[in-house]
Amino acid sequence: MGAQTTPPAVFILLGPPGAGKGTQARMLEEKFGLVQLSTGDLLRAAVAAGTEAGKQAKAVMEAGGLVSDDIVLAILRDRMGDADTKRGVILDGFPRTAGQAEALDGLLASTGQRVNSVISMEVEDAPMIARVAGRYTCADCGEGYHDTFKQPAKAGVCDKCGGTDFKRRADDNAETAGARLNAYHAQTAPLIAYYKGRGVLEEVDAMADIATVRDAMQARVAQVVG
Ligand SMILES: [Zn+2]
Repeated sequence: MGAQTTPPAVFILLGPPGAGKGTQARMLEEKFGLVQLSTGDLLRAAVAAGTEAGKQAKAVMEAGGLVSDDIVLAILRDRMGDADTKRGVILDGFPRTAGQAEALDGLLASTGQRVNSVISMEVEDAPMIARVAGRYTCADCGEGYHDTFKQPAKAGVCDKCGGTDFKRRADDNAETAGARLNAYHAQTAPLIAYYKGRGVLEEVDAMADIATVRDAMQARVAQVVG
């Protein structure tokens, strides 16, 4: 009996700050009908909805503790049961450790699912640091600029709104950007090794332009949910 149903596909997106992960995830959502699930959003939604796992998470957070892997997994399981995720999900921010990756495999196995593909946005540190360190924005309209890659056509005047006031985020400097990248590499190295071992790791050159990265990522996703 029964119609054949394909279980929702599970993708994991890995990429350091500044690699364009959010932009790429949104394009994958639109093209393939996937839903991006970031851990922070999941937790907030579960707490707001007052689900059983959400109540547990709330109690832990109110006590100043860290929400356990078990609770995060329960919230993830609940969320992946929702109708809008039936084509598949893109996980962002979970798993963070090889232990969490194993626990996730266990959860997925119980519903006949698996991690179909882990897409790692590969970057070179020095150009990434230059990219982040030179950023600034128009204080009036928020248009983004860059010391090296995108100066306004007329120096000191915003192309978009004509404003002359610009601002830089204090943490957009080379030192902070380098530290963030180091932390990212240290944190993801075990995950990358784990998924490489499972044969599901796909590495995409994230230093290319947005459209090239998009095409490379979409080609990989299409192999699973095309
Ligand atoms: Zn402006």
